[in-house]
Amino acid sequence: MAVKFLDKKVSSRRHFRRSKTVAGRCEVCGEEMPLCYRCRKCGYLICQRCMAEGPRRFSCNTITWVCPNCLNWETL
Ligand SMILES: [Zn+2]
Ligand SMILES: [Zn+2]
Repeated sequence: MAVKFLDKKVSSRRHFRRSKTVAGRCEVCGEEMPLCYRCRKCGYLICQRCMAEGPRRFSCNTITWVCPNCLNWETL
């Protein structure tokens, strides 16, 4: 008897880095915040609170924001 073992190994590993938020001092309000968005280009930090308070200022459309320091587009 031939028994077939259907051993499908679906290796759907997804490396999902959550390194877009870092802890640090927000450049806008100057406070130490556990969750800040960081510009990869210049290292500018903005906390989630300031991001939420000034969506127009940072062109926050829930997907991207613009670094006010170097005008680099960053994804959230
Ligand atoms: Zn802030
Ligand atoms: Zn920047």
